[in-house]
Amino acid sequence: MARNDEQDRVNDFDLLIIGGGITGCGAARDAARRGLRVGLVERSDLASGTSSRSSKLVHGGLRYLEQGEFSLVFEAVTERRNLQEIAPHLVNPLPFLCPVYRGSRHGVLAVNIGMWLYDGLSLFRSPKRHEHLSKKAVKKAEPALRTEGLKGAPLYYDCSTDDARLTLETALDAVAQGAELLTHTKVTGFLREDNGRICGVEVENQLNSERFQLKATVVINATGPWSDRTRAMGDATHTERLRPTKGVHIVVSTDRLQVHHAVVVFHPVDGRVLFAIPWGDRTYIGTTDTDFSGDPGDVEAEKNDVAYLIEASNHYFPAAKLTTADVIATWAGVRPLISQEGAADESNVSREHEIRVDADGLITIAGGKLTTYRRMAGELVDKALDMMRMMGLAPSDLREAHTAIEPLPGAVGWPEDDDHAAVASQIEVAAKGAIDGTTARLLGDTYGMRGFDLAEMAAKDATLAARLTPTRPEIAAQVVFAVERELALTVSDVLIRRTQLFFKDVEQGLGVVERVAELMGERLNWDDERREHEIQAYQRAVEGSRRWRTD
Ligand code: FAD
Repeated sequence: MARNDEQDRVNDFDLLIIGGGITGCGAARDAARRGLRVGLVERSDLASGTSSRSSKLVHGGLRYLEQGEFSLVFEAVTERRNLQEIAPHLVNPLPFLCPVYRGSRHGVLAVNIGMWLYDGLSLFRSPKRHEHLSKKAVKKAEPALRTEGLKGAPLYYDCSTDDARLTLETALDAVAQGAELLTHTKVTGFLREDNGRICGVEVENQLNSERFQLKATVVINATGPWSDRTRAMGDATHTERLRPTKGVHIVVSTDRLQVHHAVVVFHPVDGRVLFAIPWGDRTYIGTTDTDFSGDPGDVEAEKNDVAYLIEASNHYFPAAKLTTADVIATWAGVRPLISQEGAADESNVSREHEIRVDADGLITIAGGKLTTYRRMAGELVDKALDMMRMMGLAPSDLREAHTAIEPLPGAVGWPEDDDHAAVASQIEVAAKGAIDGTTARLLGDTYGMRGFDLAEMAAKDATLAARLTPTRPEIAAQVVFAVERELALTVSDVLIRRTQLFFKDVEQGLGVVERVAELMGERLNWDDERREHEIQAYQRAVEGSRRWRTD
């Protein structure tokens, strides 16, 4: 596998992709599977942008029905099915409850009609068919929910995922098919032919400041909320295409608020849709949706975002009496939405995607959803191939990509019956007593069948079987695996995206940062200075996510 070393710099690619979010990684996988020579350059870590900051749902987006976006919903529910097929360990059915109250924007009948339409659009292949729960049944199903004025609730099914890991596994499959990925490498400019056509990029390694060039027949800009900025690097006169909006989530312990379904509610003040979502021993609540004009790399939760989410939570779950002291972590992301005339309200901006080809040959994709990434990636590669054909430079021996049926790495060998508990038991056995059942379950759910590789590491070396912190199931082997098998190069890569300690640990990983730096440093030959730099960079990331407390 190629990694930021000397020999990569002379490589030529058919296709060079800028951006290692779900869109860029999806395109890399699709193109590599077709047999193209693919390069991908990511300024930070894979999924460090929006693709680790979503609501983590693989869903049709029931609310888009209300906006009449039937084709988007149809495409999304179809993709939900495809992603369950290729990543069953990562894309899991999740029950949703949508309580209807007296005076709600939609009555029980309207919501039920919407449910039938939703099931129908998925050709009745939802994880399970929806049903209607009476007020009494809702009380039993979600005891923390406000009952005053409650009329009942439809129960329906969509899916949840680990967005960062879905991106990572997509990237790993691309690498397995021959794609070359350079992370922590930023595109700083474009290379051009005499006629002005873009034929490559100038890059700078963000870890050692080295600069070099990469040449390619076609260059794709998949930089999500940065995509206008990336286009402007080539030509500052480009009109802006995005209307970016910011979305914030907060994480609390189930000791403070426990939900058993993803509960869909409308904010009591402005009526926006929000979710309270079960997440193991945590619950997360989101999201806000406000216009955002800053650098997407600087986006953070602010005090008013957190207050807005707590206000809604206390309206619907009054007994929990959440306060800011209950917030363990926050995350904020920027939606790369396409600007739309007439959409006054941020929530009404369409989630459809757009592929645009500039006069200099740069192909830019923006908009869309995590859920629909695979379809978007296929269209993007088709567009790039059209361009190669026009130039007479398309390789002749291409294959079908089969991205809807070929499993992602952790899904290879995953049982047909999707029995997560059975996989976890086998992983526990494979670890020969080195790990407990909770850790085994975490490994199976997180890595799929690759969890057995971690079990083997733990069985061979007791130091790798050790928990990173006594209060949580994550083990040292995950850090080593992240470095050796999952392209992690910094402590933040491991604590934020390879594990979710940043969000789930009460100390946000601050208590384990030194151990993680030590384990990584041994494998990546860090000196004391680099190790200290890594620790401080992580501490700054945590501070940033907590800044709303002091602003
Ligand atoms: P990104 O993930 O942002 O990737 C772009 C990448 O480009 C970044 O990693 C960035 O570092 C890199 N980059 C930028 N500039 C450069 C450069 N110069 N050189 C190299 N690399 C560069 N969708 C769903 O389907 N389900 C959901 O539940 C859902 N919830 C959401 C909730 C929120 C709050 C938000 C914000 C979005 C949500 N979405 C959801 C939408 C979904 O997350 C996004 O559509 C998707 O992640 C966008 O991915 P991307 O790859 O286009 O962008």
